[in-house]
Amino acid sequence: MLRVDDLTVDYGLIRAVNGVSFEVAQGAIVSLVGSNGAGKTTTMKALSGLVPRAGGAVRFAGAPLDGVTPDGRVARGLAHVPEGRRVFPRMTVRENLLLGAYLRGRDPGVVEDLDRVCEMFPILAARRQQLAGTLSGGEQQMLAIARALMSRPKLLLMDEPSMGLAPQMVDLILEKIVEIRASGATVLLVEQNAVEAIRLSDVVYVLRLGAVIHRSAGRDMDESLLKALYLGHDI
Ligand code: ATP
Repeated sequence: MLRVDDLTVDYGLIRAVNGVSFEVAQGAIVSLVGSNGAGKTTTMKALSGLVPRAGGAVRFAGAPLDGVTPDGRVARGLAHVPEGRRVFPRMTVRENLLLGAYLRGRDPGVVEDLDRVCEMFPILAARRQQLAGTLSGGEQQMLAIARALMSRPKLLLMDEPSMGLAPQMVDLILEKIVEIRASGATVLLVEQNAVEAIRLSDVVYVLRLGAVIHRSAGRDMDESLLKALYLGHDI
């Protein structure tokens, strides 16, 4: 579904991503983990076209993404749930959700999908007319995920969906990720506090200083191995 080869991204003189390669198979949940500043968010932004690539290649659903705009990527089935949620606080929950489907124009399936995501996140159904800015952090995260689902993505990029949430809410979000995969989408997840995310991932890539330093099946990764990798020990 997604193949990233030797990706590099620069912010001026800073090389934030330095030759990252990884693959995401269709129907998988894949996690990129690593400590602060490892390059996870920048990798996600490069995939959705929000920052330019300095080098390397990205293929999605069988075609290169060279020159494809962020909107064009959404239209091809790549949706991004950004770090920090970024819902539109002065718009209602419903309006936020509809914005997720804006590229679909008057597609009658949009109304069906609105019902579908509200079924998946009943709290959003109850708060349809409420301003998004008045939701709790966990509810805003659900809204950000649901908004991305409104574009009917083949691949959902999720950047630290559990950030700043209470443990119970983290569990709920992780449950939803498994549900999203069961509904047919593929998921690429970025997490810093990664133990729970790793448990539900098929494959985990560990990043440090802008490069992949380790790849393993989620079931083969445990907390002590992860800690050692974060701290920079060779395995
Ligand atoms: P975090 O979990 O803190 O978001 P991360 O693994 O996602 O960390 P990135 O945010 O991708 O890491 O940052 C990678 C590197 O790029 C870091 O050295 C960071 O300081 C730098 N960086 C990130 N954004 C910018 C920016 N807009 N301008 C300059 N440097 C940046």
